[in-house]
Amino acid sequence: MPSSPGLHHVTAICSNAARTRDFYERVLGLRLVKRTVNFDDPSCWHLYFGDETGSPGTLLTFFEWPNGERGAPGAGEAVALSFAIPKGAAHEWVRRLTEEDVYVAIAPGADDALTFHDPDGLALELIEQDWAEALPGHTTAYIGEEQAIRGLAVVTLLVEDCDATANVLEDVLGWRETARASHGGFLRLRFAAPGAAGPGRLIDVLKAPEAAPAQQGAGSVHHIAFRAADDKVQGAMAKALSKAGLTPTEQKDRTYFRSIYAREPSGVLLEVATDGPGFLVDETADALGTNLRLPPRLEALREEIEANLPPLA
Ligand code: ZN
Repeated sequence: MPSSPGLHHVTAICSNAARTRDFYERVLGLRLVKRTVNFDDPSCWHLYFGDETGSPGTLLTFFEWPNGERGAPGAGEAVALSFAIPKGAAHEWVRRLTEEDVYVAIAPGADDALTFHDPDGLALELIEQDWAEALPGHTTAYIGEEQAIRGLAVVTLLVEDCDATANVLEDVLGWRETARASHGGFLRLRFAAPGAAGPGRLIDVLKAPEAAPAQQGAGSVHHIAFRAADDKVQGAMAKALSKAGLTPTEQKDRTYFRSIYAREPSGVLLEVATDGPGFLVDETADALGTNLRLPPRLEALREEIEANLPPLA
């Protein structure tokens, strides 16, 4: 059976790319590792934020829908993302976020998450994780190594029927259920990727039979992507998705990885993305994220595309 060692990236929607860039790059200290356009709609920005080199499991990406209406969280969508920070870093983050006028709350529980929202209302958390300190952190003028975010910790999906979602996570992706608890009428199932703890290895599935369906818009998660080591493993996962009754797409070349997509039974759009070739395929490590990069088929239109994109700063 194929298995995915973790999430590759999460893609969300923002209404103002410059504001989103300021928030994730300056306030949260992620690195903008690629500035490109939505390959399916080159009039829109696609920005990738992550660690120093854009390692799988650290990536949060945004499509810009300029002046897009805000979405409404609901069933069939990822409703919260948490980032991992080193042990002892939470206190400094409360200070930093408060200073930046970001309202931050502390959600009591096993994780003691700091909860807040991005400028479009996307629900975010920072969670201290044992494994975080051992990974290199991307530092900035404002954020040091002892504080820096080390990638995604947990992605929370809200679904009507957690059994159907669990089947996909377990039977297609090779994840396993590690915890189950009731919270205020919700059933929460936690799934972990095979292997050691690290970035992008946990998904919480929240069962909400009465929840209204999500309405996608600014501040919504568009899809979540799982890692596949290579094309062969991805091909095996495509077969497994079909066997589970889903309808995976053909493979699409995203320049930095190759992808297939399928909607799981509760409505969450899933992607399976190859680890390679990665973000250094068209830029040096130092230059990552500094210039607009386009796939070869769009290079001929560069002038027109650049002229139409809203400013990034
Ligand atoms: Zn994607």
